[in-house]
Amino acid sequence: MIIILKPEVSEAQIAHVIERVEERGMQAHLSRGTFRTIIGIIGDEAQLDAVALHAIPGVQDVVRVLPPYKLASREAHPQSSVIDVGGVAVGGGQLALMAGPCAVESAERMESIAAAVRAAGANILRGGAYKPRTSPYAFQGMGREGLRILQETGQRHGMPVVTEVMDPRHVDLVVEHADMLQIGARNMQNFVLLTEVGRTQKPVLLKRGMSATVDDLLMSAEYVLSQGNPHVVLCERGIRGFDRATRNLFDVAAVPLCQRLSHLPIIVDPSHATGRPDLIPACALAGVAAGADGVHIEVHDCPEEAFSDGPQALLPDQFAELAEQIRALAAVLNKKVSEPQR
Ligand code: PEP
Ligand code: MN
Repeated sequence: MIIILKPEVSEAQIAHVIERVEERGMQAHLSRGTFRTIIGIIGDEAQLDAVALHAIPGVQDVVRVLPPYKLASREAHPQSSVIDVGGVAVGGGQLALMAGPCAVESAERMESIAAAVRAAGANILRGGAYKPRTSPYAFQGMGREGLRILQETGQRHGMPVVTEVMDPRHVDLVVEHADMLQIGARNMQNFVLLTEVGRTQKPVLLKRGMSATVDDLLMSAEYVLSQGNPHVVLCERGIRGFDRATRNLFDVAAVPLCQRLSHLPIIVDPSHATGRPDLIPACALAGVAAGADGVHIEVHDCPEEAFSDGPQALLPDQFAELAEQIRALAAVLNKKVSEPQR
């Protein structure tokens, strides 16, 4: 960390800053230039609150040298992490192909969609049992029964399952039924929930909030890691833009950026990013081409009957065609779509 002092800083203020740094067990190195005086700090940056240092009179700026997300950063962990989701490897050249309906709607519907996506090569089954809806009058998910249906369907088809957990009080219940806990965009900064999933050892799919920066996303990952759960997969699912032509703005650059900054795998969700089936395949392929460790796609066999997100669902045939293209692209990139181990 480097503290840049104001031109008019007094000797007493410099001494005060150094005292603050040293009382935290760090070393302060003073450099007096012709125009500016700076203090270089050596030691564990996490012990110092950069924001609080700003409040000291005479301090103009505080520049961090290390990212504040220590555990999530690639500096701390140069090798890419590979996350095991119920036997499916995600990262390190192995792609996740997560697919399923937005919501679990019935055992029959889940069965037909699961059979179709598995036949197309999906390796992780998705389906929401607890749905975050903008309207309190919209379908909120089947809850506990939905979890049971999802788990049983996944087992029948040899696929681990991912489902959203919205409430810290539901974490234990969802852990019992799911192989991966999804933290939705709306909850990316629900720090109580992040702490709670961090206390488990279940893989976590952490979706980027719709107005979250990449740093915000990595700080949320840090919450989970700091609690002792290292199994985090990031997900780029689009951020709010000004153009309503697509549901969100697919930030494909976030994929290589996150990979540069962090060792955690990152997948893309072009379904929520675009909200348009005609754009989903291109964006899924763009994500994989950009280096994503997988994709997350909503599939429904009768979108017009879907309880949520029907208009953005791919039909099973469209998904099968996309899966084929993803496998071909993966081969070019020397990667492969993971096979479930069950
Ligand atoms: C979902 O996966 O159905 C969902 C609600 O996603 P997001 O949190 O990205 O909106
Ligand atoms: Mn959805």
